[in-house]
Amino acid sequence: MPAFHLLSSISELSGVGSKRKLILNDHGISTLQDLLYYFPRRHLDRTSITPIRKLEKGMVATLIGQVETFGEKSVRRGKLFQVILSDGTGILTLTWFNGVRFMKKLFKVGDRLAIHGKIDWYNGPSITHPEFDKLNPDDDPISTGAVVPLYPLTNELRSIGVDQRVLRKMVRELLRSGLAIPELFPDPVLKEYKLISRQDAFKQIHFADNGVKLNNARRRLKFDEHFFLQLLMALRKKSIQLTGTKPLPDIGPYFHTIANTLDFELTDAQKRVIEEIHDDLKKKVAMNRLLQGDVGSGKTIVSILISALAVGNNAQVAIMAPTEILAHQHYESFMSLLDKANIPCALLLGNMKKNERQSILRGLKTSKIPVIIGTHALIQDDVEMKNLGLVVVDEQHRFGVNQRLKLLKKGWNPHFLAMTATPIPRTLSITYHGDMDLSIIDELPKSRLPVVTKVVEPSRLSRIYAFIKKEVASGRQCMIIYPLVEESQKSDLAAAVEAHKELNKNVFPDLNVGLVHGRMKSEEKDRVMQDFASNKIQILISTTVIEVGIDIPNATVMVIEHAERFGLTQLHQLRGRVGRGTDKSYCILVRRNITETAQSRLEIMEETNNGFIIADEDLKLRGPGEFFGIKQSGFFQFKIANMITDGPIIRDARKAAFKLIENDPDLQESQHRLLREIFLQEYADQLEMIALS
Ligand code: ADP
Ligand code: MG
Repeated sequence: MPAFHLLSSISELSGVGSKRKLILNDHGISTLQDLLYYFPRRHLDRTSITPIRKLEKGMVATLIGQVETFGEKSVRRGKLFQVILSDGTGILTLTWFNGVRFMKKLFKVGDRLAIHGKIDWYNGPSITHPEFDKLNPDDDPISTGAVVPLYPLTNELRSIGVDQRVLRKMVRELLRSGLAIPELFPDPVLKEYKLISRQDAFKQIHFADNGVKLNNARRRLKFDEHFFLQLLMALRKKSIQLTGTKPLPDIGPYFHTIANTLDFELTDAQKRVIEEIHDDLKKKVAMNRLLQGDVGSGKTIVSILISALAVGNNAQVAIMAPTEILAHQHYESFMSLLDKANIPCALLLGNMKKNERQSILRGLKTSKIPVIIGTHALIQDDVEMKNLGLVVVDEQHRFGVNQRLKLLKKGWNPHFLAMTATPIPRTLSITYHGDMDLSIIDELPKSRLPVVTKVVEPSRLSRIYAFIKKEVASGRQCMIIYPLVEESQKSDLAAAVEAHKELNKNVFPDLNVGLVHGRMKSEEKDRVMQDFASNKIQILISTTVIEVGIDIPNATVMVIEHAERFGLTQLHQLRGRVGRGTDKSYCILVRRNITETAQSRLEIMEETNNGFIIADEDLKLRGPGEFFGIKQSGFFQFKIANMITDGPIIRDARKAAFKLIENDPDLQESQHRLLREIFLQEYADQLEMIALS
């Protein structure tokens, strides 16, 4: 048997010629290591199989049966293909609506199939478009009692003869070759976290002796992936803590001056997070804290008070927001309060007049301007600050890691406060914000009433418009939101523009109806927003540019068109734009084009105003990448780990990673050599960003 090496080409295996090699390469399998990581998408074993007799509607099940008969059928919308399967306890119908001609060739009477899918009920159990695999006698878990791996297959793979059997043969050859899969962790770590060896894990994930061993293998391989991510977090945190900073220990003269002028009492949660932040600021290591609070929980006032405190310690403060509208609004809020303590502040945006910009830059360089608010404009190279001591980033998930680093580099390790209204589920948060400490505002101001939410059909619109007229007549304002979908930006924009025309002319002829959308110049946008804020405009039609942060307490009705096209978190953010005053507010979700799942998804919005519950649901439905609205390259591309369901494993991996960095911060010990090597290979990009700071 040849001496295999993990990085040898896949063509070393018998049966892999040049054609197969090419197509396997296309499937991400170039080296033997890649094949090891080509994990089965599912395992069949006797205990995971449900007899047909026990199937119930709605259940997601795996089962095995024999093809009794099959054929195509003409229906109203074309042709469909059906297979009738029996397992001795009952009969199951499988249905496909596409690829009928292709499907026909796949089956023979008597074939044994492994099936996986969600059970429907039409005169008996049935599955539409099931996941299916043809079984051979030697891989039927019922006859062999073995755990059978089912690999992800494509038609392309099948077309070159790479089916389950061939894949299994390839993996088996590899595992039996005496190939050495080196261990990453020293023995004590394996013991402490009850991990099986990597060698065993790879063997069992492909060919498990039994269900228990398979689970151990899964846990081990998941652990490794989480571990590396947590190692990155530990290093980030360490790199921040290693560098000293100027502490900002005093309450100073301005904090109370401003706090005393507020016309409301801070909530207990606001008071608590202010204390947490102040405790950080007293230290000689820079704060790195995430302030999380549902929309309307009052994060802005917290950041204003903390800024005043920082200025009281002779530090400058920079506040960065993701959009001009939001920066503008922060500027207004900051200015009106900082004014009470005679603290100058300024607004820096992308396209300012040269003179104006120069004068602000001078003020920052000399520290005549202690508080600066702005967009990405803040991170431009010519922005210099004399003694930047605190950086605040609002809606921080909208920024990339290097953007915030750029801002931080304008000072000497300034303290960092990130704010987000996206209530990230705890499990996800320890991964995603694993390098940060967390403060949560878990309480809304007492005056706040929950927003009444209703999912409606378009036929109800005329009644809704009448309701809006009534609200406006009593002095309130309304927003109507249209979605903006990337692929069809134009047509959606057109929809908003058209709706504006129609509503302005025919529905609300006596009212001022405004329009904002992303394609407008920012001055134009700002003008419309100002007019809305001052109630010159009563009804505002908008694409989703309005989403973040806008604070117009007088707005009591929000209508969201094509609500089914939005993610739940986004709907929740949008809804947070109303109900900010003391009046009862309404959010009306107009569904246009809807499936059953979309309907029940929207109903979650009717049921709760709790951002955490909504975020959890959203995460379950869309997965983490989508959830954040960004595809962080490499960050979420786990091979087996799952950020949503691996909670306990993540906590163990985190503990292990942080302990390792505590004891061996540069991974220099010989027992960590391989760890270091793999880590540098896989996480080089992210490490570079740490080095940047
Ligand atoms: P968010 O957390 O969404 O950024 P804001 O800071 O914009 O929320 O606050 C929303 C509104 O609530 C603002 O008008 C603000 O003045 C007001 N507010 C903040 N804290 C309180 C409080 N403790 N009591 C009453 N109103 C508050
Ligand atoms: Mg806000």
